[in-house]
Amino acid sequence: MAICQNCGKRLPPDSDGEYCSKDCSIFGKRRKNGFCKKCMEETTDESAGRIYTLNGIGTTLRSASSELDDYDECPNCGSIVLLKWFSFVKPIFPIDRYRYLPLSRWKGITDRSKEFIARRIKLNPLRKLEILVAMKESNEISEEEFKAEKNKILTGN
Ligand SMILES: [Zn+2]
Ligand SMILES: [Zn+2]
Repeated sequence: MAICQNCGKRLPPDSDGEYCSKDCSIFGKRRKNGFCKKCMEETTDESAGRIYTLNGIGTTLRSASSELDDYDECPNCGSIVLLKWFSFVKPIFPIDRYRYLPLSRWKGITDRSKEFIARRIKLNPLRKLEILVAMKESNEISEEEFKAEKNKILTGN
């Protein structure tokens, strides 16, 4: 008996021989191929970890902009950009940005299926500098540490 490579259901007679439906074809291929080269390069191996809230406290995923449908979808692999937020009843502050590859039909920010693979987006040098300046201004790091870290960023190390 031929079964769908994505969901394992029996293939209907008019199928392509691999997947039972258009959705299973899209998500089955994503599962197999993962992120494209470009998305791999702009991210690190770190996953988003568990996304959960308990009594209103925890983490949630949101789109990068206030336009809720702006996910910067990749034309090659279908990944989208989402921010992991610390939330207390509602999202309070963003923790990190991820490229997120949904492995089932993406239902938007209310999606609770959480079937996905995620990779953390690398910080660009300008953003790293901004964080460093903020740390120095709040005296979290000394002048020497600031200079050393700034050199590392400017020389790309
Ligand atoms: Zn299927
Ligand atoms: Zn991609």
